[in-house]
Amino acid sequence: MLTCPWSCVVWDLDGTLLERGGLRPVDGVEAVLAAWAGAGVEMAVATSASTSTARQVVDGLGWSGWFSHVAGSAPGVAGKDEVLAEALLGLGRVLPEGAAGAAMVGDSPADVAAARRHGLTAVGVTWSGTPADALGGADVIWTRPPS
Ligand SMILES: [Mg+2]
Repeated sequence: MLTCPWSCVVWDLDGTLLERGGLRPVDGVEAVLAAWAGAGVEMAVATSASTSTARQVVDGLGWSGWFSHVAGSAPGVAGKDEVLAEALLGLGRVLPEGAAGAAMVGDSPADVAAARRHGLTAVGVTWSGTPADALGGADVIWTRPPS
């Protein structure tokens, strides 16, 4: 398993950890989550879904132990920029310093833009069908989960 190059990783949910539009984990992501959580990497979810829905999904998959915080849309928190900031805050990371050593992994241009705006390493993933050139601002592109 790839050693995680970051001390903190924030994950998008739909199309990144889960197959787009569904509740099925993407093949290979659970191994990454287990390995990195086991190695002490701080991890959170940042999703455009409502926080309550996202927590239900994470709990239902048995993933709660891997994430110290699950952030979604909520009153006063809308858009990936704000959700990402909320996810980091839930890990005790206050921006801008809180971005140090942290990455955001997502399949949408909005994920990449939020990561870059807040100073995180932007990891764009293409396995949900987003073409790499639509994730052009990403620092890193993954075509499959690291293994
Ligand atoms: Mg997504």
